Amino acid sequence: MHRIRFHGRGGQGMKTASRILGSAFFLEGFEVQDAPRYGAERRGAPIFAYVRASKKPVYERGIIDNPDLIIVADDSLVPIPVANVLAGVKPWSTILINSSESSDTWRKRLNVSCNIISLPIIDNNGDNGSLVRQYIGVACAGAGAKLLGAISAATLEQAIKQELSRLGDNIVSENIDKALTSYEMAAKETDVIVAEGEEISAVNYNKPDWIELPFEKARFSAPIIHAGLTSSKVKTGLWRTMRPVIDHEHCNHCWWLCGCFCPDGAINIKDNSPQIDYDHCKGCMICLAQCPPHAIQAVSESEALKNESGGACDDT
Ligand code: SF4
Ligand code: SF4
Repeated sequence: MHRIRFHGRGGQGMKTASRILGSAFFLEGFEVQDAPRYGAERRGAPIFAYVRASKKPVYERGIIDNPDLIIVADDSLVPIPVANVLAGVKPWSTILINSSESSDTWRKRLNVSCNIISLPIIDNNGDNGSLVRQYIGVACAGAGAKLLGAISAATLEQAIKQELSRLGDNIVSENIDKALTSYEMAAKETDVIVAEGEEISAVNYNKPDWIELPFEKARFSAPIIHAGLTSSKVKTGLWRTMRPVIDHEHCNHCWWLCGCFCPDGAINIKDNSPQIDYDHCKGCMICLAQCPPHAIQAVSESEALKNESGGACDDT
């Protein structure tokens, strides 16, 4: 499996870079996962985005902590601890740094036993300032695509068109130009091809050193409206336009995630099954989004009322 992590600053297009690389992998026939991870939500703050790609189903989830390729869009991030650029670097990893300083300089500076490639992919502080900066993400995606050896220039171009088409032809063509320039630069400056990392089996997974808390009996831990006075009396369920309906055949009685996440305490556990209090369910559908086996469906309230034979709303 290919595991790639982009590091940059807010506003440098790391999310777009991961999407473009993800789409390019997908077009090449890979299964793909790509996602950004933000720290502080502001321009200039360190962020990272990651991509997993494999010809087999991708079962791994979460942050990549064993990257094959780390792409650093902004070399000023490398010494910043919170940016965590070197997290999980292994001897077989490759770090591609967008920098005007040489690979040797970075090797000495970082003193890590992996492959380090420094390329002036795009000038962060160039004369044309923000005009250049908006292309950092796409340029890094272009150089990274070449190093991975699995994405052709034509596929990269197609992925950019797909991802950025809403921005108009001129912007798309500028981005393609920047990406292909850095793709060619990587081809010219290095013959490194970053190999796929090994599949990791869940059997070998080492749990973090966390504390196991015993699972309380659901009837004591399930949320319910405890506050007296108005909350139990005001029928907030009248606000609802969509109604969550539990398919009890498919409910696998997980750890009552629906009830735990319901912001209104409108799901209680009765007879070992979740029951929705429709008098107080506001129809936010958070329970639906949380249910692991997708056992909760959204039904339009008017449709549900039409189908009801009368009496209190209940899904049982
Ligand atoms: S739709 Fe919202 S309010 Fe209603 S039961 Fe689900 S989580 Fe609670
Ligand atoms: S989250 Fe889904 S599976 Fe879990 S208890 Fe609720 S309905 Fe059942």
